[in-house]
Amino acid sequence: MNNRVHQGHLARKRFGQNFLNDRFVIESIVAAINPQKNQAMVEIGPGLGALTEPVGERIDKLTVIELDRDLAARLQTHPFLAPKLTIYQQDAMTMNFAELSATLGQPLRVFGNLPYNISTPLMFHLFSYTDAIADMHFMLQKEVVNRLVAGPNSKAYGRLSVMAQYYCQVIPVLEVPPTAFTPAPKVESAVVRLVPHTTLPHPVKELRLLSRITTEAFNQRRKTIRNSLGNMFSADELEALGVDVTKRAENISVAQYCQMANYLADRQASKES
Ligand code: SAM
Repeated sequence: MNNRVHQGHLARKRFGQNFLNDRFVIESIVAAINPQKNQAMVEIGPGLGALTEPVGERIDKLTVIELDRDLAARLQTHPFLAPKLTIYQQDAMTMNFAELSATLGQPLRVFGNLPYNISTPLMFHLFSYTDAIADMHFMLQKEVVNRLVAGPNSKAYGRLSVMAQYYCQVIPVLEVPPTAFTPAPKVESAVVRLVPHTTLPHPVKELRLLSRITTEAFNQRRKTIRNSLGNMFSADELEALGVDVTKRAENISVAQYCQMANYLADRQASKES
């Protein structure tokens, strides 16, 4: 049998289609999500319904976003899910989650076994809507989950860790082997819970500056911070901010990156005035 065919559907690689087939894993994920009636549950990439069905058994209404037209059409005629579903047949990257939350009248609970080829840009897209989101549960490559949760002084710590932790509390939930999917992906997977902070622990004045500093620093992660950020800060400025200039990008905390971004914002503002 062609192992790319699952429930009569030929898995499309370009849509990152790896369908969950393991009852125990599916039940564990749904237990972690713990959906309740009258919550604004939103699934990204429902596919053949591996998570949608058990979630749909527990609640009356569910919003799903599915790019694949054939899969969206299947859901439209699904025996018991169809009347419960609001289906957006579109790219989740173009979804306005603030508008969706306004339509549903409450913060969103977003979940999904994400297409791995777009998981990082999709998470950045979602981070820009954290005001409209109560929490998120995602299946991702294990390596991406490791990066999301990593703290300073570790190899996995990078720009994704800083940006995710700026917006959210990040909690690893479950590890999942390739055999839990059809077709089996080449990598290990894991589920993560992201809970947007109700009050940002280190608010920055201009997000684009935090983004720029972390990009510069981690693009040259082997250099000392004095060198990698040399065109933005003098060594004296960094030291005044309490940053040891002999350290590298991976040794700097989220709080310190935010402090650096705010210093830069103030410096630019004082130049303009
Ligand atoms: N939830 C199903 C499961 O667990 O078996 C399917 C998961 S599969 C890894 C990813 C799903 O996301 C597929 O159904 C795929 O068609 C859909 N998808 C891919 N790219 C998408 C996008 N940009 N926006 C929305 N859905 C997308």
